[in-house]
Amino acid sequence: MSALLDQVYERIDDRVDDMVELTCDLIRFPTVNPPGEAYTPCAEYIGNRLAKRGFDIQYVRGEGTPGDSSDYPRVNVIARRKGKGDGPCVHFNGHIDVIEVGAGWTVAPFDAIVKDGRIYGRGACDMKGGLASAIIAVEALVDTEPNYPGTIEISGTCDEETGGYGGVAYLAEKGWFSKPWVDHVVIPEPMNVDRVCIGHRGVWWAEIETHGRMAHGSMPFLGDSAVRHMVAVLELFEKDLYPALATRSSDMPVVPEGARQSTMNINSLHGGQAEYHSGLPSPCVADSCRMIIDRRFLIEESLVDVKREVTAILESLAESRPDFRFDIRELFAVEPSIVDRDGPVASATVAAIQEVLGVEPDIVCSPGTYDQKHVDRIGKLKDCIAYGPGRLDLAHQPDEWVGIEDMTAAAKVMATAASRLLRQEA
Ligand SMILES: [Zn+2]
Repeated sequence: MSALLDQVYERIDDRVDDMVELTCDLIRFPTVNPPGEAYTPCAEYIGNRLAKRGFDIQYVRGEGTPGDSSDYPRVNVIARRKGKGDGPCVHFNGHIDVIEVGAGWTVAPFDAIVKDGRIYGRGACDMKGGLASAIIAVEALVDTEPNYPGTIEISGTCDEETGGYGGVAYLAEKGWFSKPWVDHVVIPEPMNVDRVCIGHRGVWWAEIETHGRMAHGSMPFLGDSAVRHMVAVLELFEKDLYPALATRSSDMPVVPEGARQSTMNINSLHGGQAEYHSGLPSPCVADSCRMIIDRRFLIEESLVDVKREVTAILESLAESRPDFRFDIRELFAVEPSIVDRDGPVASATVAAIQEVLGVEPDIVCSPGTYDQKHVDRIGKLKDCIAYGPGRLDLAHQPDEWVGIEDMTAAAKVMATAASRLLRQEA
């Protein structure tokens, strides 16, 4: 076994240039989501590469999922290769979409610049670097032992950044992420090379709207300001909600430490006239004010209670504050997800990190969510973790990068874990 793995490691070391080139090629597909650019060529690039290694390639379009259209088809690629003899299926899943470029870049975001042992570009860290590591790991394994027991599968999926509905959720609904088709799933999200991620917090996004009545801005007493009503909401959030959230901490090992409690971000706040217009605004009392909240909750909390807590604040204002009227609309909700830290895939990866890196890995949970929720909730497959190179805090930032050494180490860890899982030695 260890002689076999030594050969696998040697192959990975020999292919660092190939791994860098692969990562750069993936970054050069500007798969920005929304709207979901360049999914098809990116998926086909992955499919064409793995077809040469004897993988069966399937393209599955998330027909009718949010954003799916003939201009922006939600194309996923799944590559599957059966070895010889019985064994489980080990699946590596990476999302191919990236978030918008945003401001603050000092390098061209889709040129894929290699400098000082790092690859720079949008998606380098989250998570084309991780996907490339997994592909290199799998190829090295297949080339070293073509007749491994069981099945290896690798997928490039879309839309993770917008909830995964056209990607892993769609595939999970069609049975692609359930037993007996798949047994163990590794998602190479950027969780740092020496950490194993076993779950994530829950999310509740909602839009709150307060209503007012328009009037001339010189006589605001003739109208009713929706913005002032929203200020009253914010005051209660500051006075009651935020202090309450700060007292709730989790047994989930969420990183960074600050995210081990309940949090809420005010995503946006807008009242009155449109922000963008030419010339001066006209004097008006705002008849509407809208706020989007992004509440992250713990496994110890329930989604029902999370919603009730916010709604109760709004209802109390409706009772106490004259003319206070509001609407609340849910935009998005995800339950927390956590798997057994002693499950096969987590144990195999922990052991592989110890072996390859010689360090004791941290078991962590993610502050945000990722596609594990769909594997867990829809696919009903518990044996799923996130493990991959790239530093979590660089995700979604300008000048995002991934370290080549970390990618190489992660590829060895993934190959080791996969090899053990296929033999059911984990
Ligand atoms: Zn990601």
